[in-house]
Amino acid sequence: MKCTSCKQGRLLPSLLEGEFRAHTCSNCSGHWILIEDYVSWKERNQQYSFKENIHYELDDTKLIN
Ligand SMILES: [Zn+2]
Repeated sequence: MKCTSCKQGRLLPSLLEGEFRAHTCSNCSGHWILIEDYVSWKERNQQYSFKENIHYELDDTKLIN
């Protein structure tokens, strides 16, 4: 799966903050998150906010398999 940001790197499965399911780009180190993962995680961690220096691509078009 290619990175949606730089179009060059590969998105590798990773966990952010120890438990947040995401993918990290091997080229630009960008984080890519399924909107459904974000929503379900947010429901369980309503008080939590990420560090300001972390940026996310929220791309709901990727919900289509
Ligand atoms: Zn990238």
